[in-house]
Amino acid sequence: MTISERFGRALLHNHTIYSDGVMTPVELLVSCQQYPEKVDIFAITDHNSIRGYDFLINYMLQNNISAPKLIPGVEVTSPLHLLVYPKKNPFEIPQLLGFERTVDFIFNKDEEAVILVAHPGKNHRFLLDPQAYVRKGINGAETRSPYNWPLEWLVSARYEQIRREGNKKFSAVAGGDNHFPYPYGTGWQYHTLFPGFTTEDLFNALLEGTIIAVVDKSIKVRLPSLEMTAERHRKALLDPLLPPSRR
Ligand SMILES: [Zn+2]
Ligand SMILES: [Zn+2]
Repeated sequence: MTISERFGRALLHNHTIYSDGVMTPVELLVSCQQYPEKVDIFAITDHNSIRGYDFLINYMLQNNISAPKLIPGVEVTSPLHLLVYPKKNPFEIPQLLGFERTVDFIFNKDEEAVILVAHPGKNHRFLLDPQAYVRKGINGAETRSPYNWPLEWLVSARYEQIRREGNKKFSAVAGGDNHFPYPYGTGWQYHTLFPGFTTEDLFNALLEGTIIAVVDKSIKVRLPSLEMTAERHRKALLDPLLPPSRR
């Protein structure tokens, strides 16, 4: 049995044109289907919006597309960036409530939601003691992120320290923060392995800290094709939810 048979693969941090990403939700789906390694689960984590998820989950239902599995998510500006994966139904989260009130709001809505600290090397570096995340019930952090460079070793060391100091369940996750298809970003190379392959398995792994964060520099994901670009414009024109500036 190979590692890919025992472990599911998840791309947990992706943006679409519903926030500041370049890909439409459908392009993101196709890119995940073309990923060099099988992707079991992917999330749309647009900034403060679940509209990209709403659009794509309906598209996948209408077209009988069941793989890879799409899970809801959002990257909330608290102002610190937090990645939120609701266990039940997706929901919008008000911006700029502050860290504590944002987390309270999320757990109030869905006590089983998973919350991860996004790219701690970028905007969390000097703002909050990582132990404060643990005390507040945060489930993990993107210790592997393109934005942790050049301090990735330092960020990882701080979070590994949390795990050693007794909170073994704090998950060290890899997140690409994919705004672009390759070759414009390196984010596709950051992915997360978890024991099993279902959404339930993924949530259990995030809660139990049994995640494996992987950075694979050999991974290349191609740009969407010309046909995809045509489809993108057609979809954008048809989708009344798109902000006018994005049509
Ligand atoms: Zn962010
Ligand atoms: Zn992001």
